[in-house]
Amino acid sequence: MAIRRSTAKRQGLPSVVQLRLAPTPPQADALNAAILVCNQAATYISRLAWQQRTFTVLELHRLAHHPVRAQAAGLGAQAAVRAIARVAGAYANRRATKKRAHIFRPHGAIPYDARLMSWNRDARVVSLWTPTGRVHVSYSGREEDLKAVDTLPLGEADLICRRGVWLLQVTVTLPKPAAREPVNGYLGVDQGVANLAVTSDGVVLPGPALPGPIQGNGHVRALRERRHRQRRRLQKKGTPAARRVLRRLSGREHRMMTDLNHQISKFVVREAERTGRGIALEDLQGIRGRVRAHRLQRRTLHGWAFAQMIEFTRCKAARAGIAFTLVDPAYTSQACPECGWTSRANRPARGRFVCTRCGLAGHADHIAARNIAQRGVAGRAVVNQPHATGLPSARRDRESKPPASTGGS
Ligand SMILES: [Zn+2]
Repeated sequence: MAIRRSTAKRQGLPSVVQLRLAPTPPQADALNAAILVCNQAATYISRLAWQQRTFTVLELHRLAHHPVRAQAAGLGAQAAVRAIARVAGAYANRRATKKRAHIFRPHGAIPYDARLMSWNRDARVVSLWTPTGRVHVSYSGREEDLKAVDTLPLGEADLICRRGVWLLQVTVTLPKPAAREPVNGYLGVDQGVANLAVTSDGVVLPGPALPGPIQGNGHVRALRERRHRQRRRLQKKGTPAARRVLRRLSGREHRMMTDLNHQISKFVVREAERTGRGIALEDLQGIRGRVRAHRLQRRTLHGWAFAQMIEFTRCKAARAGIAFTLVDPAYTSQACPECGWTSRANRPARGRFVCTRCGLAGHADHIAARNIAQRGVAGRAVVNQPHATGLPSARRDRESKPPASTGGS
C-alpha cells in the first residue's frame, strides 16, 4: 500500500510528499495501536474474503463490516470501511494473489483518508484517528514538501513507522499546467519492432543517449527474439512446469519493458520541452478495423508495450504542459515526407526507405517518425487513400511543411 515517491520533481511539485511526524510518547502509543488494529482487521477481512471467495468492496462490506468491528476492539466504522477497501484493493486484478489469503504485515503502513484525518495547515498539525481517539500531531518536512502541503489539495496518506521514525506520506493534487502551443512543430516518434523507438530527429531509443542497464538496441532486440522463441517452445510443451516458467518470464519481460518505456518517454518529453515542440505518436486504437494488420500488431508479443509507451508519454507530457497528439498510422512507413509519394515500392529492403519519385533515402523508422511529426503538425489524421487492397499507390499531397527536422536522411 505504500505510495512510491514521485520522480517528477523537475516538472513541478511532487505528487507524493513525505512529512515527518513528531508525536509525544502517549501519541506514539496511540498511533502504534492504530497501525496494529488496522492491519489486524485487514488480515481478518482478507481471510474472510478468501474463504468466501468474495473480493469486491460491496460484497466484502456486507460480509465483513459487522464481524470485523466485533472482533477488532476500537476499530471505528470509518476505519473498518478503509480496511475493507484495502483488502479489495489487494485482491484486485491479481489472480495469482487469490491463491492464498493476503496477509497484512502487523507493522506495515496504513492508509488514512479524509474522514480519518484532518489538517491544521497554519499550525502544521495533523489530526489522526486512533483507537483511543484523535491525536493532534505536529509535522515537519523538506521545504518544497511543506510548500506543497500548504498550498495544494491533499488526498489520502499512508502512516508509516520506520525504525522509530513516524512518517506520513501524503498524496497531493498537482495543478495541471495548460499545454503550451508548440512553437517549433512536433517531435514525431515511431515505435518499431526492431528499434523500440526512433524520433523524427533520427535518435534511436533506448540508445546510448539514455542511461540505464541496456546500452543500444541490439541487446534489446536479441533479448526479445530469444524470449519469443523460448515462449513458443514452452507454449508447445504445455506442462505445469513450463507454464510456471512462462509466467516468471512474462513478469521479468514486463518489468524490463516498463522500465524502458519510462526511459524512452522521459527522453522524448524532455527533448520536446527543450526544443519547444509538441509530441506526435501513432494512434494504435485507430488501426484495429483495418484489412491488413499494422506492422506493430503483426507481432503481438509486445502489443501492450506500445500502448504503455503511449500512456507514459501522454502522462509525462501533460505534467510538463507539452502538447501531445495521436495521428493516423496509415502508411507512415511507405510515405515520403519530402514529396508525399506513397508506395510500397519506397521500401526496397527491410529497414530501408528510398523514395521512387524524389530519391529521398534513409532509415525506414526515421522516415516514419518524420511522417508522424508532419501529421502532428497537420493536426488531423487524414489519408484519403484506397487501402482496401492494401496496395496504396495514389499520391498524397503534402499538407504542410515538415517540422524543423535536424536529422539527415
Ligand atoms: Zn519523395
